[in-house]
Amino acid sequence: MKLLVVGGAGYIGSHTVRQLLRAGHQVVVFDNLSSGHAQALPPEVPLIQADLLDAPSVKAALEAHQPDAVIHFAALIEVGESMRAPARYYRNNVVGSLNLLQAIVETRKVPLVFSSTAAVYGTTDAVPIPEDAPLHPESVYGETKLMTERMIHAFHVAHGLPYTVLRYFNVCGAAPDGSIGEAHPSKTHLIELACLTALGQREKMMIFGDDYPTPDGTCIRDYVHVLDLADAHVLAVEALVRGQQDAATYNVGLGHGFSVLQVLDAVDAVTGRPLHREVAPRRPGDPPQLVADAHRIVDGLGFKPQFTDLREIVQTAWNWHRTHPHGYEQ
Ligand code: UDP
Repeated sequence: MKLLVVGGAGYIGSHTVRQLLRAGHQVVVFDNLSSGHAQALPPEVPLIQADLLDAPSVKAALEAHQPDAVIHFAALIEVGESMRAPARYYRNNVVGSLNLLQAIVETRKVPLVFSSTAAVYGTTDAVPIPEDAPLHPESVYGETKLMTERMIHAFHVAHGLPYTVLRYFNVCGAAPDGSIGEAHPSKTHLIELACLTALGQREKMMIFGDDYPTPDGTCIRDYVHVLDLADAHVLAVEALVRGQQDAATYNVGLGHGFSVLQVLDAVDAVTGRPLHREVAPRRPGDPPQLVADAHRIVDGLGFKPQFTDLREIVQTAWNWHRTHPHGYEQ
Protein backbone atom coordinates (compact mmCIF):
# COMPACT_ATOMS: atom_id res chain seq x y z
CA MET A 1 0.00 0.00 0.00
CA LYS A 2 0.98 3.65 -0.34
CA LEU A 3 1.36 5.76 2.79
CA LEU A 4 1.73 9.44 3.47
CA VAL A 5 3.92 9.79 6.57
CA VAL A 6 3.55 13.25 8.08
CA GLY A 7 6.55 14.04 10.27
CA GLY A 8 8.36 11.09 8.69
CA ALA A 9 11.82 12.69 8.92
CA GLY A 10 11.84 12.75 12.73
CA TYR A 11 13.15 10.18 15.20
CA ILE A 12 10.13 7.84 15.35
CA GLY A 13 8.91 8.72 11.85
CA SER A 14 12.19 7.80 10.16
CA HIS A 15 12.34 4.41 11.89
CA THR A 16 8.72 3.79 10.88
CA VAL A 17 9.48 4.71 7.26
CA ARG A 18 12.21 2.09 7.32
CA GLN A 19 9.91 -0.62 8.70
CA LEU A 20 7.15 0.29 6.23
CA LEU A 21 9.56 -0.13 3.31
CA ARG A 22 10.74 -3.45 4.76
CA ALA A 23 7.12 -4.60 4.91
CA GLY A 24 6.86 -3.85 1.17
CA HIS A 25 4.90 -0.57 1.31
CA GLN A 26 5.45 2.64 -0.64
CA VAL A 27 6.09 5.82 1.36
CA VAL A 28 5.90 9.56 0.75
CA VAL A 29 7.06 11.84 3.59
CA PHE A 30 5.57 15.25 4.42
CA ASP A 31 7.75 17.13 6.92
CA ASN A 32 8.66 20.77 7.60
CA LEU A 33 12.14 19.67 8.78
CA SER A 34 11.82 21.86 11.89
CA SER A 35 13.32 19.02 13.89
CA GLY A 36 13.45 16.22 11.33
CA HIS A 37 16.38 15.42 9.06
CA ALA A 38 16.28 14.66 5.35
CA GLN A 39 19.37 12.45 5.91
CA ALA A 40 17.26 10.15 8.08
CA LEU A 41 15.30 9.08 4.99
CA PRO A 42 16.32 6.55 2.35
CA PRO A 43 17.10 8.39 -0.93
CA GLU A 44 14.24 6.67 -2.78
CA VAL A 45 11.59 8.16 -0.45
CA PRO A 46 10.02 11.38 -1.83
CA LEU A 47 10.08 14.24 0.69
CA ILE A 48 7.52 17.05 0.53
CA GLN A 49 9.03 19.83 2.61
CA ALA A 50 5.94 21.67 3.83
CA ASP A 51 4.06 22.63 6.95
CA LEU A 52 0.71 21.37 8.25
CA LEU A 53 -0.14 24.99 9.07
CA ASP A 54 -0.14 25.60 5.31
CA ALA A 55 -3.50 23.89 4.71
CA PRO A 56 -3.44 23.98 0.87
CA SER A 57 -0.11 22.14 0.81
CA VAL A 58 -1.56 19.29 2.90
CA LYS A 59 -4.49 18.92 0.55
CA ALA A 60 -2.20 19.11 -2.48
CA ALA A 61 -0.02 16.32 -1.07
CA LEU A 62 -3.04 14.06 -0.57
CA GLU A 63 -4.36 14.81 -4.06
CA ALA A 64 -1.00 14.36 -5.75
CA HIS A 65 -0.01 11.09 -4.05
CA GLN A 66 -3.40 9.43 -3.39
CA PRO A 67 -2.24 7.45 -0.33
CA ASP A 68 -4.16 4.49 1.10
CA ALA A 69 -3.59 5.81 4.63
CA VAL A 70 -1.85 8.59 6.57
CA ILE A 71 0.45 8.24 9.59
CA HIS A 72 0.77 11.47 11.58
CA PHE A 73 3.89 12.07 13.70
CA ALA A 74 4.37 15.81 13.18
CA ALA A 75 4.37 17.63 16.51
CA LEU A 76 6.40 19.72 18.90
CA ILE A 77 7.24 17.39 21.79
CA GLU A 78 9.00 19.18 24.62
CA VAL A 79 7.03 19.30 27.84
CA GLY A 80 8.99 22.20 29.42
CA GLU A 81 8.92 24.32 26.27
CA SER A 82 5.17 23.70 25.90
CA MET A 83 4.61 25.37 29.29
CA ARG A 84 6.66 28.43 28.27
CA ALA A 85 5.26 28.77 24.73
CA PRO A 86 1.71 27.38 24.81
CA ALA A 87 0.48 29.24 21.73
CA ARG A 88 3.17 27.65 19.59
CA TYR A 89 2.17 24.20 20.83
CA TYR A 90 -1.58 24.64 20.42
CA ARG A 91 -1.11 26.14 16.96
CA ASN A 92 1.40 23.63 15.70
CA ASN A 93 0.00 20.45 17.25
CA VAL A 94 -3.74 21.13 17.35
CA VAL A 95 -4.30 23.47 14.38
CA GLY A 96 -1.78 21.50 12.30
CA SER A 97 -3.65 18.26 13.05
CA LEU A 98 -6.99 19.93 12.34
CA ASN A 99 -5.71 20.98 8.90
CA LEU A 100 -4.64 17.42 8.22
CA LEU A 101 -8.01 15.98 9.32
CA GLN A 102 -9.91 18.51 7.24
CA ALA A 103 -7.77 17.76 4.19
CA ILE A 104 -8.28 14.00 4.62
CA VAL A 105 -12.07 14.23 4.80
CA GLU A 106 -12.15 16.69 1.87
CA THR A 107 -10.09 14.40 -0.36
CA ARG A 108 -9.97 10.61 0.09
CA LYS A 109 -11.14 9.99 3.68
CA VAL A 110 -8.35 7.44 4.13
CA PRO A 111 -7.53 5.97 7.57
CA LEU A 112 -5.24 7.79 10.00
CA VAL A 113 -2.72 6.50 12.56
CA PHE A 114 -1.88 9.13 15.17
CA SER A 115 1.13 9.44 17.53
CA SER A 116 -0.10 10.10 21.02
CA THR A 117 1.60 9.78 24.36
CA ALA A 118 1.33 8.38 27.87
CA ALA A 119 1.45 12.06 28.93
CA VAL A 120 -2.33 12.13 28.32
CA TYR A 121 -2.74 10.17 31.57
CA GLY A 122 -0.80 12.62 33.75
CA THR A 123 0.18 11.52 37.22
CA THR A 124 -1.62 8.33 38.12
CA ASP A 125 -1.38 5.65 40.76
CA ALA A 126 -2.37 2.98 38.25
CA VAL A 127 0.47 0.48 37.66
CA PRO A 128 0.30 -0.63 34.91
CA ILE A 129 -1.85 2.00 33.17
CA PRO A 130 -4.76 0.73 31.03
CA GLU A 131 -6.11 2.78 28.12
CA ASP A 132 -9.33 3.52 30.01
CA ALA A 133 -7.50 5.18 32.92
CA PRO A 134 -8.59 8.79 33.59
CA LEU A 135 -7.05 11.34 31.24
CA HIS A 136 -5.48 14.31 33.04
CA PRO A 137 -2.57 15.70 31.03
CA GLU A 138 -0.39 17.99 33.15
CA SER A 139 1.42 19.84 30.40
CA VAL A 140 0.37 21.84 27.39
CA TYR A 141 2.15 19.21 25.30
CA GLY A 142 0.00 16.40 26.77
CA GLU A 143 -3.08 18.60 26.41
CA THR A 144 -2.42 19.13 22.67
CA LYS A 145 -2.15 15.37 22.17
CA LEU A 146 -5.40 14.71 24.03
CA MET A 147 -7.18 17.49 22.12
CA THR A 148 -6.01 15.93 18.86
CA GLU A 149 -7.19 12.45 19.97
CA ARG A 150 -10.61 13.97 20.63
CA MET A 151 -10.71 15.81 17.29
CA ILE A 152 -9.87 12.59 15.48
CA HIS A 153 -12.66 10.77 17.29
CA ALA A 154 -15.11 13.56 16.40
CA PHE A 155 -14.11 13.22 12.72
CA HIS A 156 -14.71 9.48 13.03
CA VAL A 157 -18.21 10.08 14.39
CA ALA A 158 -19.08 12.84 11.95
CA HIS A 159 -17.37 11.62 8.76
CA GLY A 160 -16.65 7.92 9.31
CA LEU A 161 -12.87 8.51 9.37
CA PRO A 162 -11.18 5.24 10.47
CA TYR A 163 -8.33 5.77 12.95
CA THR A 164 -5.89 4.22 15.38
CA VAL A 165 -4.31 6.23 18.19
CA LEU A 166 -1.03 4.92 19.61
CA ARG A 167 -0.01 6.21 23.06
CA TYR A 168 3.73 5.83 23.40
CA PHE A 169 5.55 5.25 26.65
CA ASN A 170 9.35 5.94 26.84
CA VAL A 171 10.64 5.58 23.29
CA CYS A 172 14.34 4.81 23.02
CA GLY A 173 17.05 3.03 21.06
CA ALA A 174 17.99 3.28 17.40
CA ALA A 175 18.36 1.19 14.27
CA PRO A 176 20.87 -1.52 15.31
CA ASP A 177 23.21 -0.65 12.40
CA GLY A 178 23.65 2.81 13.95
CA SER A 179 22.62 4.61 10.74
CA ILE A 180 19.63 6.53 12.15
CA GLY A 181 18.71 7.49 15.71
CA GLU A 182 17.56 10.14 18.16
CA ALA A 183 18.78 13.65 17.35
CA HIS A 184 16.60 16.23 19.09
CA PRO A 185 18.04 19.71 19.52
CA SER A 186 17.45 19.63 23.27
CA LYS A 187 18.55 16.49 25.05
CA THR A 188 16.42 15.41 27.99
CA HIS A 189 15.85 11.66 27.56
CA LEU A 190 17.66 9.39 29.97
CA ILE A 191 19.29 6.87 27.60
CA GLU A 192 20.32 9.50 25.05
CA LEU A 193 21.79 11.74 27.76
CA ALA A 194 23.66 8.84 29.35
CA CYS A 195 25.19 7.86 25.99
CA LEU A 196 26.25 11.46 25.29
CA THR A 197 27.72 11.67 28.80
CA ALA A 198 29.67 8.45 28.15
CA LEU A 199 31.04 10.20 25.04
CA GLY A 200 32.33 13.04 27.25
CA GLN A 201 29.80 15.65 26.09
CA ARG A 202 28.63 16.10 29.68
CA GLU A 203 30.48 15.74 32.91
CA LYS A 204 28.04 13.57 34.86
CA MET A 205 24.59 12.05 35.02
CA MET A 206 22.11 13.51 37.43
CA ILE A 207 19.70 11.03 39.02
CA PHE A 208 16.49 12.97 39.61
CA GLY A 209 15.46 11.57 42.99
CA ASP A 210 16.46 8.35 44.75
CA ASP A 211 13.76 8.45 47.44
CA TYR A 212 10.76 7.29 45.40
CA PRO A 213 8.63 4.38 46.64
CA THR A 214 10.26 1.93 44.20
CA PRO A 215 12.65 -1.00 44.92
CA ASP A 216 15.86 1.05 44.38
CA GLY A 217 14.31 4.47 45.06
CA THR A 218 14.55 5.74 41.47
CA CYS A 219 11.73 6.20 38.95
CA ILE A 220 10.51 3.34 36.82
CA ARG A 221 9.59 3.81 33.15
CA ASP A 222 8.45 1.52 30.34
CA TYR A 223 11.21 1.80 27.70
CA VAL A 224 9.91 0.72 24.30
CA HIS A 225 12.38 0.36 21.44
CA VAL A 226 11.78 2.67 18.50
CA LEU A 227 11.80 -0.21 15.99
CA ASP A 228 9.17 -2.10 18.00
CA LEU A 229 7.13 1.10 18.09
CA ALA A 230 7.64 1.45 14.33
CA ASP A 231 6.32 -2.10 13.89
CA ALA A 232 3.25 -1.17 15.93
CA HIS A 233 2.53 1.52 13.31
CA VAL A 234 2.93 -1.00 10.49
CA LEU A 235 0.48 -3.38 12.21
CA ALA A 236 -1.95 -0.54 12.94
CA VAL A 237 -2.01 0.87 9.42
CA GLU A 238 -2.32 -2.57 7.81
CA ALA A 239 -5.27 -3.47 10.06
CA LEU A 240 -6.99 -0.16 9.22
CA VAL A 241 -6.55 -0.48 5.48
CA ARG A 242 -7.77 -4.10 5.56
CA GLY A 243 -10.86 -2.78 7.36
CA GLN A 244 -10.20 -4.85 10.50
CA GLN A 245 -10.25 -1.83 12.81
CA ASP A 246 -11.94 1.52 12.62
CA ALA A 247 -11.54 3.40 15.92
CA ALA A 248 -8.97 2.03 18.34
CA THR A 249 -6.62 3.47 20.96
CA TYR A 250 -3.62 1.48 22.15
CA ASN A 251 -0.82 1.92 24.65
CA VAL A 252 2.56 1.00 23.19
CA GLY A 253 5.03 -0.26 25.76
CA LEU A 254 6.62 -3.48 26.96
CA GLY A 255 4.27 -3.78 29.92
CA HIS A 256 7.13 -3.70 32.40
CA GLY A 257 9.57 -1.07 33.48
CA PHE A 258 13.20 -0.36 34.39
CA SER A 259 14.49 2.04 37.02
CA VAL A 260 16.86 4.94 36.38
CA LEU A 261 19.64 2.98 38.14
CA GLN A 262 18.99 -0.12 36.00
CA VAL A 263 19.25 2.03 32.87
CA LEU A 264 22.51 3.67 34.00
CA ASP A 265 23.97 0.26 34.91
CA ALA A 266 23.09 -1.01 31.44
CA VAL A 267 24.74 2.04 29.83
CA ASP A 268 27.90 1.46 31.91
CA ALA A 269 27.99 -2.20 30.85
CA VAL A 270 27.44 -1.46 27.15
CA THR A 271 29.86 1.47 26.83
CA GLY A 272 32.51 0.13 29.22
CA ARG A 273 32.83 3.74 30.46
CA PRO A 274 31.25 3.99 33.94
CA LEU A 275 29.33 7.25 34.27
CA HIS A 276 29.95 9.72 37.03
CA ARG A 277 26.57 9.88 38.82
CA GLU A 278 25.10 12.42 41.19
CA VAL A 279 21.78 12.28 43.01
CA ALA A 280 19.77 15.48 42.43
CA PRO A 281 16.34 16.56 43.71
CA ARG A 282 13.24 15.04 42.16
CA ARG A 283 12.22 16.57 38.81
CA PRO A 284 8.84 18.28 39.21
CA GLY A 285 5.98 16.27 37.73
CA ASP A 286 7.82 12.92 37.57
CA PRO A 287 5.53 10.14 38.86
CA PRO A 288 7.34 7.20 40.52
CA GLN A 289 6.19 4.64 37.95
CA LEU A 290 4.81 4.86 34.40
CA VAL A 291 4.28 1.43 32.92
CA ALA A 292 1.91 0.49 30.11
CA ASP A 293 -0.78 -2.10 30.39
CA ALA A 294 0.04 -3.45 26.92
CA HIS A 295 -2.52 -6.24 26.71
CA ARG A 296 -4.85 -4.42 24.35
CA ILE A 297 -2.28 -3.97 21.55
CA VAL A 298 -0.99 -7.52 22.00
CA ASP A 299 -4.53 -8.90 21.65
CA GLY A 300 -5.81 -6.38 19.10
CA LEU A 301 -2.87 -6.09 16.70
CA GLY A 302 -0.60 -9.03 17.59
CA PHE A 303 2.11 -6.62 18.79
CA LYS A 304 5.22 -8.57 19.84
CA PRO A 305 8.19 -6.45 20.87
CA GLN A 306 11.59 -7.82 19.81
CA PHE A 307 13.70 -5.62 22.10
CA THR A 308 12.93 -6.67 25.66
CA ASP A 309 16.49 -6.83 27.00
CA LEU A 310 17.64 -3.49 28.42
CA ARG A 311 21.29 -3.97 27.43
CA GLU A 312 20.30 -4.81 23.89
CA ILE A 313 18.13 -1.69 23.75
CA VAL A 314 20.96 0.48 25.09
CA GLN A 315 23.43 -1.17 22.69
CA THR A 316 21.40 0.09 19.70
CA ALA A 317 21.32 3.63 21.12
CA TRP A 318 25.07 3.46 21.73
CA ASN A 319 25.73 2.23 18.15
CA TRP A 320 24.03 5.40 16.88
CA HIS A 321 25.50 7.95 19.32
CA ARG A 322 29.05 6.53 19.14
CA THR A 323 29.06 6.88 15.35
CA HIS A 324 27.05 10.17 15.27
CA PRO A 325 28.17 12.08 18.38
CA HIS A 326 26.61 15.27 16.98
CA GLY A 327 23.57 13.64 15.42
CA TYR A 328 23.11 14.26 11.71
CA GLU A 329 25.33 17.37 11.79
CA GLN A 330 28.78 15.85 11.45
N1 UDP B 1 16.12 11.11 34.46
C1 UDP B 1 17.21 11.26 35.32
N2 UDP B 1 18.28 11.99 34.87
C2 UDP B 1 18.33 12.57 33.64
C3 UDP B 1 17.21 12.40 32.77
C4 UDP B 1 16.12 11.67 33.22
O1 UDP B 1 17.21 10.77 36.45
O2 UDP B 1 19.32 13.22 33.33
C5 UDP B 1 14.97 10.32 34.91
C6 UDP B 1 13.66 11.10 34.92
O3 UDP B 1 13.50 11.78 36.14
C7 UDP B 1 12.64 9.98 34.71
C8 UDP B 1 13.40 8.96 33.85
O4 UDP B 1 14.78 9.28 33.99
O5 UDP B 1 12.34 9.36 35.94
C9 UDP B 1 13.02 9.05 32.37
O6 UDP B 1 13.09 10.41 31.98
P1 UDP B 1 12.99 10.86 30.46
O7 UDP B 1 13.19 12.35 30.42
O8 UDP B 1 13.90 10.02 29.62
O9 UDP B 1 11.51 10.48 30.04
P2 UDP B 1 10.09 10.87 30.68
O10 UDP B 1 9.69 9.67 31.50
O11 UDP B 1 10.25 12.11 31.46
O12 UDP B 1 9.22 11.04 29.48
